Amino acid sequence: MKIIAIGRNYAKHAKEMNSSVAEEPIVFMKPDTALLRNNDPFYYPEFSKEIHHEVEIVVKINKVGKHIQEEFAHKYYNEIGIGIDFTARDIQRLHKEKGLPWEKAKSFDHSAAIGKFIDKSKFNDLNNLNFSLDINNKTVQAGNSKDMIFSIDNLIAHVSKYFTLKIGDLIYTGTPEGVSEVKIGDRLVAKIENEILLDFEIK
Ligand code: MG
Repeated sequence: MKIIAIGRNYAKHAKEMNSSVAEEPIVFMKPDTALLRNNDPFYYPEFSKEIHHEVEIVVKINKVGKHIQEEFAHKYYNEIGIGIDFTARDIQRLHKEKGLPWEKAKSFDHSAAIGKFIDKSKFNDLNNLNFSLDINNKTVQAGNSKDMIFSIDNLIAHVSKYFTLKIGDLIYTGTPEGVSEVKIGDRLVAKIENEILLDFEIK
């Protein structure tokens, strides 16, 4: 499986990063070794001094597809979840300045925490989903999928032009504003519509 992640999909997050709003989805990938499952702890890696959390709605692909049209994109997923796109911001900054690829900052081992999935039929409107991240019982990020620049179905149509989507692939749909550093000892709890789907610690 592969993990496809979207950058700058919320205007306020693009602004806090001093980045322009994207004209088309910004896409990067993480390998399967990036997954962090079962509420396992995240071990702070020695190569970074500035790991940021980015809480994101995640879509699990359940059907093989290429060149999927937006109006049929909903047929390619049944489940929605929440994840953290951990980012070594210090490395990303350095690599951005030099115009180098982001993988060391974005795709390292366990940089893609993933929680429980929920059948999408449980939600009235996928384009109006509240989600949040609490750290040590304080809400640090709160978003709504209606603020996505590119909707879930739009993203599926876009990425499937370039990459064949396969069963089990995950799409991290971008983070709202409020990204900041995590510290050893932090407890991260992520929710969609107030249901806890992810709960783990930084060690
Ligand atoms: Mg992200």
